Amino acid sequence: MIPYGRQHVSERDIESVVAVLRSDFLTQGPAVPAFEAAVSAYTGGVHAVAVNSATSALHIACMALDLGPGDLLWTSPNTFVASANCARYCGADVDFVDIEPGTYNMSPAALADKLAVAKARGRLPKVVVPVHFAGQSCDMQAIQSLAAEYGFAVIEDASHAIGGRYRGQPVGCGRYSDITVFSFHPVKIVTTGEGGMAVTNCARLADSMRLLRSHGITRDTSQFEGTPAGGWDYQQKLLGYNYRLTDLQAILGVSQLRQIDEFVSRRHQIAARYDRKLAELPIQLPRQSADAYSALHLYPIVVRDAAGRRAMYDGLRAAGIGVNVHYIPVHLQPYYRRLGFGPGSFPNAEAYYAGAISLPIYFDLTDELQDVVIATLTGLCQRLGPV
Ligand SMILES: *Cc1c(COP(=O)(O)O)cnc(C)c1O
Repeated sequence: MIPYGRQHVSERDIESVVAVLRSDFLTQGPAVPAFEAAVSAYTGGVHAVAVNSATSALHIACMALDLGPGDLLWTSPNTFVASANCARYCGADVDFVDIEPGTYNMSPAALADKLAVAKARGRLPKVVVPVHFAGQSCDMQAIQSLAAEYGFAVIEDASHAIGGRYRGQPVGCGRYSDITVFSFHPVKIVTTGEGGMAVTNCARLADSMRLLRSHGITRDTSQFEGTPAGGWDYQQKLLGYNYRLTDLQAILGVSQLRQIDEFVSRRHQIAARYDRKLAELPIQLPRQSADAYSALHLYPIVVRDAAGRRAMYDGLRAAGIGVNVHYIPVHLQPYYRRLGFGPGSFPNAEAYYAGAISLPIYFDLTDELQDVVIATLTGLCQRLGPV
């Protein structure tokens, strides 16, 4: 099976992890701050807080922004469930903003319309989570100016987008948001096995997230309430979690990050080849916006309708091509339907989903394997007729 995505692990990556295994620290050692410094240097974001997943990063980002019961978080329906679940962990409510047809990212126009209505009703979101779908940045300038006008905080879910750029600057630089979150799951751009990072330019938010990722505990006596009892003393200041990344994972991240630009540029070669060789087929290819250099986590095509998608998906799978679908709109999941959402609420996300298929794209996908995907897809288009 040719997967839709997979990690690339080099001998150097393996050696770096083995060296940590032989060292004094498997966790809470020097590799974690080294990885944080590397992500901070790469993205330009001032403070980077490493955690055990992007899901954890989204959770502590929401907590640091004081999201709680009675508050509202808005995100895109075209995302993984974690972008919305982070609000539910905090007891807050979730709503969605529909996507734009070209990039499948949150539509700034839909966001503006929904904010005007929400303001009239007196229920504005406290946090908005734009998701850089497939690795391509949302229109952050438009979203940031709405944030200034309506007073909400912004968390960029950049799980797909490390290595991407927006208006010439790396995703994660923090110019247009409060916090940016990355994922290091093996299908993403760089991996630590499981892992995530929250990046911010705000020292207060960074301190808060550092406390939250490790039980709410500090050993920094300057943050103590009262005087320390002795050298052993630590204080739990709030209710945190164990969301720590291990040193084994962090050192893999350090090593992977050295190769990130190579990873992303290979993905661009693969995408350019798909663009060229699939151009004549009756399918919609993903559009790249002029403002963004995508990290190209995904290469989503869209066929005409749900029946065509099913036939195409089954045909590709039967031929050993591990295509996938990104994403089932979050509001159509049973959990979110029970909260009152249903079909018809976000028509662009639903229409996109009906025809969506993610083709294989990853560093080690060779031209030969990609040609198998292209030939199979071309053959299926001929056999299935207009899909
Ligand atoms: C992968 C992903 C997440 C969750 O990342 P984990 O590191 O697996 O927790 C969140 N949001 C999006 C958009 C993702 O693709």
